[in-house]
Amino acid sequence: MSQYIQDQKKIRLLLELRRAGVTDTRVLSAIERVPRDQFVPDTFRDQAWENRPLPIGKGQTISQPEVVALMTQALQVSDRHKVLEIGTGSGYQAAVLSYLCRRLYTIERHKVLLEEAETRFRALKLTNIVTRWGDGTLGWPEQAPFDRILVTAAARSRPETLLAQLSDQGGIMITPMGADAWEQAVWRFTRTKDGLQEEMLWPVRFVPLIPEPGQQ
Ligand code: SAM
Repeated sequence: MSQYIQDQKKIRLLLELRRAGVTDTRVLSAIERVPRDQFVPDTFRDQAWENRPLPIGKGQTISQPEVVALMTQALQVSDRHKVLEIGTGSGYQAAVLSYLCRRLYTIERHKVLLEEAETRFRALKLTNIVTRWGDGTLGWPEQAPFDRILVTAAARSRPETLLAQLSDQGGIMITPMGADAWEQAVWRFTRTKDGLQEEMLWPVRFVPLIPEPGQQ
């Protein structure tokens, strides 16, 4: 695909995101900066700037740009924040967050996906991303509390272990949640000293968050 066509597709995608309600210019410019075509397998490269999820191997997907942008906006990330992402996948969402936060911790259960994502982070010189291979439902207790937590796979029920690792100084966690694929929604949890507030934001469909046997 020529650079001209790719640029045109990128402009069209950014307009689509604005129409979908993404108004935060920091989020839009992070989406513009991260080369999504480098986060998908070669066979899908010409579709990388379209507003759709794409397969990345191991039965997993890179999420639709609109979903990435809306969830990132809902997370209200600043450059002072320490952020935890569960479900590195291709590394695309992590790359977007890395431009917006101080340090990003990200966990993936498929080793091969994580290694591919790490190669992309190195190539793009994203030095504020720290990775872990393992079960993200356990969080990253040694680094807790986190100012922000973003889960990019659908939990069946409230992920209490992760909520316990959220800062009580206005910490925000965004997660898709639902008992089955047809009943999922994106939820926002906000923790303060006074307790936990929860809001259902919009319906969505995500691959499941899979705890390792014996966990949760
Ligand atoms: N954020 C990813 C991206 O930008 O490409 C997309 C994530 S994909 C929709 C969901 C990811 O969550 C998959 O890569 C999947 O393997 C991972 N996942 C599911 N359950 C997990 C768990 N318990 N721990 C860590 N990763 C998990």
